[in-house]
Amino acid sequence: MITCRELVGFIAEYLDDALPATKHREFEAHLRACDRCVVYLDSYRRTIALGKAAFADLDAPVPPEVPDELVKAILDARRFRA
Ligand SMILES: [Zn+2]
Repeated sequence: MITCRELVGFIAEYLDDALPATKHREFEAHLRACDRCVVYLDSYRRTIALGKAAFADLDAPVPPEVPDELVKAILDARRFRA
């Protein structure tokens, strides 16, 4: 069985589905036995999703007809939610 530390090192590959089958099985066996790593994996996934959303926003051009106040309000609302 892999350790928590090893699991953390494998997370990126696990989420990319890039782990060899044996490691993948060990990874999931560890998750079944270790709540802490389930929580960690969950927050890791969320962080990735947030990061992707943030970058998606950066790529999206702001339509010129959107008033500055509205843009600012949206940004403020986001900051408040985060
Ligand atoms: Zn663990």
